[in-house]
Amino acid sequence: LGAVREFSSKGNLIKGVKDIIAVASGKGGVGKSTTAVNLAVSLANTCHLKVGLLDADIYGPSIPMMMKVSGKPEVSKELKMIPIENHGVKCMSIGFLVEKDAPIVWRGPMVMSALEKMTRGVAWGEIDVLVVDMPPGTGDAQLSISQRLQLSGALIVSTPQDIALIDARRGANMFRKVEVPILGLVENMSCFKCPNCGEHSYIFGSGGARRTACEMDMEFLGEIPLEMEIRRSSDEGSPVVISAPDSAVSKAYNEVANKV
Ligand code: ADP
Repeated sequence: LGAVREFSSKGNLIKGVKDIIAVASGKGGVGKSTTAVNLAVSLANTCHLKVGLLDADIYGPSIPMMMKVSGKPEVSKELKMIPIENHGVKCMSIGFLVEKDAPIVWRGPMVMSALEKMTRGVAWGEIDVLVVDMPPGTGDAQLSISQRLQLSGALIVSTPQDIALIDARRGANMFRKVEVPILGLVENMSCFKCPNCGEHSYIFGSGGARRTACEMDMEFLGEIPLEMEIRRSSDEGSPVVISAPDSAVSKAYNEVANKV
C-alpha cells in the first residue's frame, strides 16, 4: 500500500519530490539552461521553496558550470547519489559522471538508464519543486522524460525569432500530446539596450513570442533582455539573480518564478 500511495501521490514517481517542472526549448542555444538555472535559484531564494535542479540536457550539460558545482557526487547509505548543492539549490547533472571533454555518444536506452539514475537514483530529500533542464528539441529522449517523470508542467523558452518560435510550437505540441500542462512561454534575448547610447535594438525581432503564446493559448510569462551580465554571471557560475539581485533582469526572472 505504501508503494501504491507513493506512486499515486500527485502522480510523480520520485520519492520526496512534490512537483517537477520541465524547462524546454525547441532549439538549442536560445537560453533554456540559463532560464532553468535562474528560475531554480529564484524559486529557492525569492519564493523560499526547497528546490532541486536536474540537468537532463545529456548531450550538452551546462549546469555544473552555470551553478559552479563539480566533482563526483557522494553516495548515501541507501546507495543513492547525493546531489551537490550551491546557491540554495540541490543539483544533479550527467556532467558529474562523465569526463569533462568526453563526447557523450549514447543511444536511446543508455540515455534512459542515465536519466533513471539521475532521478530515482538520487537522494533528493524533501523537494518542493524539481526544475528539469531538458535536452533541446522534441525527440525520443524528450518524450520519454515527459512521460516517465510525470511532469507537473512545462515552461517553454524561445527567442523572438521566427525560426525558434516554429520549434517552440513543436515543443508545446509535444507536451500537449502527452498531457503535460504548459505553464507558459518565456521570451529570452528579447531586446538589447546599448550600454553606450541606451538605444534598444530588437536583434531577434519583436513581439513574436507574445503573439505565438496567444495563438497557442499559452500564458506569456515574461521577457528577458539580451544582456552581457546574464552571460557573464552564468559563465562564472553565479547566476544573475544571485550576482545582481536588484537588477531589472533579476526582477524579470523573479516575476517568471512567481507566476510559475
Ligand atoms: P540553451 O540551454 O538553450 O542551449 P544556454 O542557456 O546555454 O542555451 O545559452 C546559450 C548562451 O547564451 C550561453 O552562453 C548563455 O550565457 C547565453 N545567454 C542566454 N540567455 C542570455 C541572455 N538573455 N543575455 C545574454 N546572454 C544569454
